[in-house]
Amino acid sequence: MAEPTLRIAALYPQQMNIYADRGNIAVLERRCQWRSLAVTVTAVGLGEPLDGDQFDLIYLGGGQDDDQRRCAADLIENKRDGLIAAAERGSVLLGVCGGYQLFGHWYELGDERIAGVGLLDVETVRSDGPRLIGNVAIEAQLAGGAAGVLAGFENHAGRTSLLDGAEPLGRVLKGHGNDGSSGNEGCRSGNVIGTYLHGPLLPANSWFADWLISTALGDQTALSPLDDALELEAHRAACRAAGILAA
Ligand code: GLN
Repeated sequence: MAEPTLRIAALYPQQMNIYADRGNIAVLERRCQWRSLAVTVTAVGLGEPLDGDQFDLIYLGGGQDDDQRRCAADLIENKRDGLIAAAERGSVLLGVCGGYQLFGHWYELGDERIAGVGLLDVETVRSDGPRLIGNVAIEAQLAGGAAGVLAGFENHAGRTSLLDGAEPLGRVLKGHGNDGSSGNEGCRSGNVIGTYLHGPLLPANSWFADWLISTALGDQTALSPLDDALELEAHRAACRAAGILAA
């Protein structure tokens, strides 16, 4: 049987790449290559359509309000149908911070409402209060029973609310999470995941990178183990920074 190829789409890598979020793509690509798994990464930018059948894993990173505004309009016009089709096929969709907000129903800034694609049942409102900034750690629960600690860094003005029945990605152990008060962080629906964790996220949370890869390849494809000494040290450093691991 032919080896599967993991087909990754990186949406708006120029605009939605705050905190070097492209590092997430590098991790996914490398962890496949180190295992001799075939992998392709396709950048899909402004004005380009997204064919949801062509991708197993679609990534949308974080961005400033202005970049988000430009990308949101394009997302609705050129990519929403493809995203919905991909989610319905069970592809993995990961949105980080600004990308997470745009996977929801809207991001409201004063009297302006930036429409999202509505794949996650969340809404976000920009607050005049302080930005929610700092190191953060959560206990994440994933489809299929996988669970673990994710550690990263957050910086957002938006406060995100889960609408009726929406499931968080996890519980905040340290940090602010979705809104600074609910104790919820992120959201997940099927294989669509949104989170506020930057860092970038995946270099410091390699177990989650592997969960994304194996889920995107289908049926929790078994992955061969890698020497993760450096990755585990990066994880511990992020946990120490968040204050859930003694120095
Ligand atoms: N512009 C959004 C906010 O401030 C998202 C920021 C980000 O992606 N870091 O809430």
